This record gives sequence, C-alpha cells and structure tokens, in this order.
Amino acid sequence: MKMKPLQVPKRTIMTPGPVEVDPRVLQAMSTPILGQFDPCFTDIMNEVMEMLRELFQTKNHWAFPIDGSSRSGIEALLCSVIEPGDKVLIPIFGRFGHLLVEICERYGADVYTMECPWGEVFDQQKIIAKVKEVKPKIVAIVHGETSTGCMQPLNELGPACRELDVLLIVDVVASIGGANVMVDEWCLDGVIGGTQKCLSVPSGMAPITYNDRIEKIILSRKKVEAGIATAEDIALGNKKNRIHSNYFDLAMLQDYWSPRRLNHHTEATSMLYALREGLRLVLEEGLYERFGRHQYHEKALIAGLKAMGLEIFGDEHHKLPTVTCVKIPLGIDGDWVRQMMLEQFGVEIASSFGPLHGKIWRIGTMGYSCRKENILSVLSALEACLIRAGATIHRGEGLQAALDYYEAPIAAKENANV
Ligand SMILES: *Cc1c(COP(=O)(O)O)cnc(C)c1O
Repeated sequence: MKMKPLQVPKRTIMTPGPVEVDPRVLQAMSTPILGQFDPCFTDIMNEVMEMLRELFQTKNHWAFPIDGSSRSGIEALLCSVIEPGDKVLIPIFGRFGHLLVEICERYGADVYTMECPWGEVFDQQKIIAKVKEVKPKIVAIVHGETSTGCMQPLNELGPACRELDVLLIVDVVASIGGANVMVDEWCLDGVIGGTQKCLSVPSGMAPITYNDRIEKIILSRKKVEAGIATAEDIALGNKKNRIHSNYFDLAMLQDYWSPRRLNHHTEATSMLYALREGLRLVLEEGLYERFGRHQYHEKALIAGLKAMGLEIFGDEHHKLPTVTCVKIPLGIDGDWVRQMMLEQFGVEIASSFGPLHGKIWRIGTMGYSCRKENILSVLSALEACLIRAGATIHRGEGLQAALDYYEAPIAAKENANV
C-alpha cells in the first residue's frame, strides 16, 4: 500500500488542550534517541526533576513525569496511596471531579463526595467542615476545573488538612504553568500536572510531585509486599496490600528516577526532550511573568466577547484564567458554529460536557496558544460564524474592544474592568 506523506492543516488551537506546541519543543522532539541508562540521558532526567520543582514551587525531592496522558499521573498518585477501604473525600465542581471519583473507586476507596453547582467553587470552610465530619485519609480535588472554567482556592484547605493529618491530592492539570500553583505554601501533599495544556508540550506525560508524607505510605506498602514491614509500617494504616498496578507503582517509579536507576519501564525519550524544552521555556519566561501573560490575554478575550454581546459563564471571581466559558446565544447550534470556525478559519474552540453541552463554549488561553494574534483570530472567527448562524450580536465591536485593550497604556490594562 502506498500512503501519502503525513500532512496536517495549519490550526489556531484555542481549546483547553491539546494546544499549539512551541516550535522549540517540536524541534527538541526530533533530537536523536539516547539509551535510558546513558549518563547523558540520566542527566536530562535529573534536569527535568530540577525544573519541575521550580514549576511546582516546591522543595519536595520527588518531582518527575509519569508516562501517559494527565490521568496517568492522577492514577499513579491515587493508586499508590489508596488501599481498599480507605476513605477519600472528593469535592466535585465539574467533570474532572467525577474522574477523581471513578479512579478512587476503581482502586477500592470508600468515596465520599460533596457537590456544588457547575460554574461555582466551594467555600473552603465548607470542605474543612466536611473533612472533620468524614475523617478521610485523603482529600482529592481539582484546582482548575476545565469543564466549567472555575478555579478552586486551596490556601486554607491545605493547612487545615495538614493539621487534621489528612492527605491532600490535587489535580492542577489545567492550571500548572498558566496560573499560580504553590505546592509547599498551600500544603499540597500530592500534585498532578499536565503537559498538553499550559506547558504547551504534546500530550503523553504527566508531571507529578509528592512529599515525604506520601512517600512514607508508598514505602511502607512496598515493605509489606517484601515481607519486611515493621510494626510502624503496619500502624501507618497498611492493610498488607501491594500497590495494585505495576505501571503506576510509585515505589518502583521513584527507584527508577533515583540514582539507583532500578529498571522499570523504558522512559519516553522524545517526550522527555519535549518536556525539558517546555520547562526551559517556562522558566526562561519566568513563572510569574507567565501567569501575568495568561491573565493579560484572558482579559483581552473577555473584553472582546462581552463587547460582542456575549455572556461569560461561571463565577467570575473564581475564574480559571486559562479557560473562558461563554454562553451560547439562545437558539444557536453551538456545534455548527464550532465546525464552521474550524472549516473556514482553522480556529478550534471546545464544547462542554454533561449538563453544559450545547449551553457553553470553552475557549482556552493556554501556553503558546495564549498570544495576541490568536485572541484576535478567535474573536474574528467567532463573530463571523455567529452572524452566519443568525445570532444577534454587536457587529464589529468585539475586535475593536480587544484592539482598544491591546493598544491602551499598560496602567489602563491593569485597571481594566472586564
Ligand atoms: C485535561 C484534564 C485532565 C485529563 O487529562 P488527559 O491528559 O486527557 O488524561 C484531568 N484533569 C483536568 C483538570 C484536565 O483539565
């Protein structure tokens, strides 16, 4: 069979992932392969760990990627810590909360949930009260909920969990590298990031970090498995259960990422090159400069959408700066508009899930995709396609508002009431 050469159209990707990848990352991916125990390669592994600690703003020793999409990191952390029957409390404020529930249930956890309406976040004190009532071993929660565009504050929950001796495991897949995530300051015990969102690296790795509270559990489970557990290990709540996954066994994975380099899987060489370059780009830009850039373009987008006459979905005080949810005007077929934007303009935005499907669009402003030309492209494509779909909008005003914002002096932008 003769297949034509690989060819893909040029796209402007304004979804909540995967997003456009920086050309420097694409270039790094074409670097020749090294053996997985080649000192030149293990040096790269160490460099990635070092940069991940900076990204996560942590002094944790363990910070390395799991091979697989972001949920592989979620699964690795949860399955290494959860033993059947363990109580896990999961506050749900969107679709990815339900993913945490599903994964915890699969590993035999006794799952307790609390929910708030989609488009809102929890009052942290309410979660803390529930923690006191349920007395779970673990609280698992999403930071940036991609499905609703909301960001859950964690600065009170973390210290409270620490005081109550509860582990806090957080999914920061949609926020890491785009919004502030302070692992140590907020007392987060285990954290999972993603590559294909604000890091602008292809999907295929999930950077995680965890502290010694989690490591202690992992190591004690390993000792039980090896038959060398002490009374203290058993007292840690261990129910003599080995970690139920080989691929996601953090005890084995951390041995592989330690100087001992105990063989586990074959590291995804080209993806590690990509992650290294992606992290280098983040740190070169500066963490806080990068968060500032995400907010800067998010504000331009919101100014444009509002001037067009569209409404933003969700609690704007707890908005995730990397995802903007827009209400689809009544009577308009959201999928038809999205399809036309892609076909005519090569611009991609996202629909939503479950109760929000058909009600909102989600526009990502993540990583390399988060730049002025993309904001202007998405606004112009959306306006044109909405007019074609028969929507009543303020013609021409969206782009003008965004241009006004971009052309205004910096001080005015900081005070922009959008
Ligand atoms: C995208 C996303 C995930 C899942 O990522 P995959 O790479 O598709 O496994 C998990 N949590 C959040 C908050 C996300 O945005």
